[in-house]
Amino acid sequence: MMTTVSHWVNNKVFPGASDTTAPVTNPATGVVTARVALADVADARAVIDAASAAFPAWRDTSLAKRTEILFRFRELLNARKGELAEIITAEHGKVVSDALGEVTRGQEVVEFACGIPHLLKGGFTENASTKIDVHSVCQPVGPVGIISPFNFPAMVPMWFFPIAIAAGNTVVLKPSEKDPSASLWLAELWHEAGLPDGVFNVLQGDKTAVDELLTHPAIKAISFVGSTPIAQYVYATGTAAGKRVQALGGAKNHAIVLPDADLDVAADAMVNAGFGSAGERCMAISVCVAVGDIADDLVARIAERAGAIRTGDGTRDTDMGPLVTQVHRDKVASYVDAGEADGAAIVLDGRTVQPDGDAGGFWLGPTLIDHVGTDMSIYTDEIFGPVLNVVRVDSYDEALALVNRNPFGNGTAIFTANGAAARRFQNEVEVGMVGINVPIPVPMAYYSFGGWKASLFGDSHAHGTEGVHFFTRTKAITTRWIETDAFLARTDRAASA
Ligand code: NAD
Repeated sequence: MMTTVSHWVNNKVFPGASDTTAPVTNPATGVVTARVALADVADARAVIDAASAAFPAWRDTSLAKRTEILFRFRELLNARKGELAEIITAEHGKVVSDALGEVTRGQEVVEFACGIPHLLKGGFTENASTKIDVHSVCQPVGPVGIISPFNFPAMVPMWFFPIAIAAGNTVVLKPSEKDPSASLWLAELWHEAGLPDGVFNVLQGDKTAVDELLTHPAIKAISFVGSTPIAQYVYATGTAAGKRVQALGGAKNHAIVLPDADLDVAADAMVNAGFGSAGERCMAISVCVAVGDIADDLVARIAERAGAIRTGDGTRDTDMGPLVTQVHRDKVASYVDAGEADGAAIVLDGRTVQPDGDAGGFWLGPTLIDHVGTDMSIYTDEIFGPVLNVVRVDSYDEALALVNRNPFGNGTAIFTANGAAARRFQNEVEVGMVGINVPIPVPMAYYSFGGWKASLFGDSHAHGTEGVHFFTRTKAITTRWIETDAFLARTDRAASA
């Protein structure tokens, strides 16, 4: 009998009433390994009801108790993260070391959230007016929904739920239906850490589940990560229903290589950022902008390194795993076909890769494409695969204009030995996260993660202080205590004694 990956409510598996399911596939073999429940509206409401019922008690649970549970969750995660990495590899396909890296980045947010008592401190003003004081408190917003994409089934939910829970909210996580098992593993870990029933819940499903989260009046805030069209839809629908929404969307990240850059460092960076996790990262570099006459040399160095990447099953000794589904693999390959037809030069062709893995896997090797034009679909569209385009330009100004013209603004990088050029770039570029000689500038947990333009809808980035702000609302309290006659008489007596 095939297992069904179900919902999680009140610290136990909740099968739900819907009998609709979707297949969960191991991308390295093409074999369907489980089925995931797809919630109907009644299932979604049952999960949301549990989060609502748990909210008042969790809101009033002391910070000391909440942080004790968070510390325990951190210890369990740290001790057992290898198990989670294996689950990620089995459903997403990324190599185990990448999967472990993902968990570690998520764990950093848990560690940040362990400091929540400090982060929730309000302000106090004595004598704002005569004998009148003002202070502020940060309170949780209520039950919140988190909707996550397939490419980071553990890290992306962990960008949000540690802070949401630490701040006193309850959570309904709606993971991607492509790799749903990591969410249940995390739920069990919360249970083991002592989190009360209903504080962390998992709702498996598709658009039906998402729409219920977006419109149900009990859900007060939505954190979404996924493609830009869905992010836009989630933002419009959630805010129309009166919720606060942060919706992180797609990306097309450019790395500029100036003529004075160390080309070995730049080539290493292009390969790691272009092909790591098979390019299925929102911070992957998909466009290398070569400035001036270094282009031939740079492309040769990237090709040499990319050609050495071992594509194959992520549980073996390989560097890059398969793509997540056959459909996605074929879509990415069709972009390469289109680029070739449009006249770009295929320097390294991943369509003919010989993988170290099962013939049924969804394989596409590293693909390097030179002389890419900005009107080609390989340039204009987010491909989300192991495809690195090289666009050649003559000057820094041309390179900057290219990045700033792009509708996305998630991440970018510049490679240069010139501090003044780097400083100008960080000031002028219209992108949310910038690397200087660093290819994937994912901020640490105590900074906030988020792009600009079509890469983020809403005004709050993920984690860091913006995350704390998103999951709390402040209340300003003005206080005046009247000194009664009885009190004054007592103080007079004390003074004359
Ligand atoms: P996706 O947009 O297809 O799905 C994201 C989530 O939305 C999933 O939970 C899915 O079930 C749900 N969803 C899908 N279609 C929906 C619909 N019509 N209505 C309501 N909900 C729907 O994204 P994906 O393919 O899982 O993930 C890849 C995308 O995510 C890429 O575009 C990538 O750039 C983006 N991403 C962005 C960031 C970031 O920080 N900006 C991080 C990771 C991934």
